[in-house]
Amino acid sequence: MLSSSAGPATLEGYGSCSFKGAVADKYLKEQGYDASLLKDLSWPKNEAKAKAVAAALLSWATDNGAKQYSHWFQPMASAGVRHGNAGCLQMAMFDFDADGVPYPSFSHENLLQGETDGSSYPNGGLRATHTAGGYLSLDPLSPIFIREDTMYIPSCFVSYNGDALDEKTPMHRATEAMSSQGKRLLKLMGYNPEGDLINNIGLEQEIFLTTRSAFYNRPDLQFTGRTVMGKDAARGQELSDHYMAPISRATGAFETMKQIQAECYKIGIPLKTRHREVAPNQYEFAPMFGNVINQIDQNLMVMQIIEEVASENGMAALLHEKPFAGINGSGKHNNWSIGTSTGVNLLNPKQLNKASGNAEIFPVIMAALVSAIDKHGDLMRLSIASPGNDFRLGAMEAPPAVMSTYLGSSLTEYLEQIKNGKMSEYSPEKKSLSFGAANVPDITVPAEDRNRTSPFPYGGARFEFRAAGSTQNVSLINTCLDSMAAEAFKIVADRIEGGEKPLDIAADLLKQHEKCIFNGNGYDPNWPDDAVKRGVWRIDSGVDAIDQLDSEKNVAMFSSIGVFSERELQARKSVLLTYYTGVVEMEALTMIDMINKHVIPSVKKSDVGNPNKLNDGIKQIKSALKKIHGEENETKQAQMARSLRLETMADVRKVCDDFEAKVPAEHWTLATYDELLFLDTFPEGEMW
Ligand code: ADP
Ligand code: MG
Repeated sequence: MLSSSAGPATLEGYGSCSFKGAVADKYLKEQGYDASLLKDLSWPKNEAKAKAVAAALLSWATDNGAKQYSHWFQPMASAGVRHGNAGCLQMAMFDFDADGVPYPSFSHENLLQGETDGSSYPNGGLRATHTAGGYLSLDPLSPIFIREDTMYIPSCFVSYNGDALDEKTPMHRATEAMSSQGKRLLKLMGYNPEGDLINNIGLEQEIFLTTRSAFYNRPDLQFTGRTVMGKDAARGQELSDHYMAPISRATGAFETMKQIQAECYKIGIPLKTRHREVAPNQYEFAPMFGNVINQIDQNLMVMQIIEEVASENGMAALLHEKPFAGINGSGKHNNWSIGTSTGVNLLNPKQLNKASGNAEIFPVIMAALVSAIDKHGDLMRLSIASPGNDFRLGAMEAPPAVMSTYLGSSLTEYLEQIKNGKMSEYSPEKKSLSFGAANVPDITVPAEDRNRTSPFPYGGARFEFRAAGSTQNVSLINTCLDSMAAEAFKIVADRIEGGEKPLDIAADLLKQHEKCIFNGNGYDPNWPDDAVKRGVWRIDSGVDAIDQLDSEKNVAMFSSIGVFSERELQARKSVLLTYYTGVVEMEALTMIDMINKHVIPSVKKSDVGNPNKLNDGIKQIKSALKKIHGEENETKQAQMARSLRLETMADVRKVCDDFEAKVPAEHWTLATYDELLFLDTFPEGEMW
């Protein structure tokens, strides 16, 4: 158990497979250094240090049974089912002498860079197959870790021309831009914190667990991660009885959750919370927040470990945003804040005022961020656009496709004063909450309640981007948020240097951009239309959002701070669009197969009606696919794929589900929603 007071953790084995802290210290000491070497991120540029790290890694890897090493990278748009998030080529950590005798070997050259013939990775035209080199450079910010027999070296991945082919490289560029512009702004306002500014995030990962045997009877779950058909079970989430319920040992879920946490601890991932979510069979984990670069690497491992551990416990973990119709889907709330290297949170007014001694900084930062959200809501929207998320946005569990922010009445009133030229220090109140029973002690809570219907509410010390999808690699999300912040900080800093007073700039920005502040109910059916009237970004279709990535505004913004070139944006857009279309095509083909191999035979066998409607459905899907193949424009293809999926396939699904309602249980050959959604209803293995 972790000790409850401050001090070293005593959780057994915690972090033993992550090369940092005490672990790195021990092995680096053998080389005449200590773990402080890793803190200065320039160590890879110093040959003696790089050699020492390589030798320490070899010794650590050998002690922990690792015989392979791999640069571990994150190809573009690589979200989705089946461990598609990371790329790696595993190489032996030994060589053979002239007599064929193996000896351990791992050099600093092996450590620092790698190359892969990654021509099959999506690159959006940045690389032709005949010039297919992909180059890898070690990421000194993220700890090297060991899983099974392999030591993984987190790395950035670019083409021969240095164009980013991955999710990680732009993330680094964006945090660096945010830090340099943010520090410039702070310095102009008299605050010069040590080190870089850091984007901190914490990701709440939602998943479903179902039995593996039922999963094997669902080609759609196996191939696409979601059910393309399936009649509602008689019971859903109407009682919210799954929510926060005990994770009981009566099903394999408890063992699965426990092991997931334990495996994560081994590689130093601090998964702090676990609970049952509101939909049947839905669960969630959340780590302690930290540097965005580490958190994203860790989240990819969390997703992989979830899938692996589930399979070892007779379960299948579903990471998809909408595995089942009619109940909640899964998201990954992206909690976002900016801090100094010494832990001062710039979004926490008390901490910031105390550390900086200048109460004007907080309203200036807030005004800058409000301006960023208002200008670049399209980027926020597109960063969460994925095939899976198109089922969630606008529905009840995720906010609508309008990019507003909730600041709460006290902060909004405060900024209103700033806008009107009245400066005071912002110090949010707390209040005492009584339970109305003398024996129950009062507790202290923030003066304002929290908001669950805004896509980007401020919660006292962080923003929570609530619309992120559960399968996503959240790099593009945070690359956009950090770039938007960098540009806003740059604009304010430029204006201060031009002679304007910071508070006047804040007031001006608030006047222009306060329209994106919305403290009402984001699920109110009138809000999306009202938002458009106000001029707030609303893009209902994920495909239309992706299409904005290389707009003139966005090219100008990203290139002004050095995060993406126009070429890189065009390539990324192409990758996102073809990914979208590709996913829909897999789903459509899977649906056709399931109708032919399962639904039609069941309908015929049980004689419950004429299957012609099903054959008609297949024809419609096939003809839509043919039209998509005949279209050359990638945006149009994805738009057509989107309507195939949300309209045609939804209609065909209805026909399938109506037949499923009539077919006797013994003739229905696919796992039903009853079986998929209620772990403890069917003894494992008995149904299938
Ligand atoms: P809730 O469901 O109430 O939003 P959780 O505890 O499930 O809260 O998750 C909150 C996540 O936000 C955690 O990962 C937590 O570490 C993270 N978090 C908390 N404070 C910050 C912050 N200042 N910056 C970034 N992330 C934060
Ligand atoms: Mg939450």
